[in-house]
Amino acid sequence: MDSPVVVLRAARDSARRRLAEVEVQLMQLREARGAESADDEHDPEGGTLSAEWSRIEGVRVGVLTELEGIDAALDRVAAGTFGICEVCGTAIPEGRLEVRPTATRCVRCAELRQ
Ligand SMILES: [Zn+2]
Repeated sequence: MDSPVVVLRAARDSARRRLAEVEVQLMQLREARGAESADDEHDPEGGTLSAEWSRIEGVRVGVLTELEGIDAALDRVAAGTFGICEVCGTAIPEGRLEVRPTATRCVRCAELRQ
């Protein structure tokens, strides 16, 4: 298994790339919408582009949440608490961290909270 820092940094790079991509898409949509709603500028929810806008904005929020989780995990690595369940304090199994390096709870606690 790669060290969690390597995995987390790779995940962060990938998330940042996706964030940059969706921000470009939103910018392009904003320009397209600006042109489209020239006579209709007081109705931001109207227009044929708003569904696409909502979809991409949803992706952006998802990537931001992912980045927060990754940064929090990197903070835990720095603080020496990475891989420790935040609820019960036991070690989270390596296999789980490999699949989900941003996990903050062991499998048992994660299931209990659902
Ligand atoms: Zn736990």
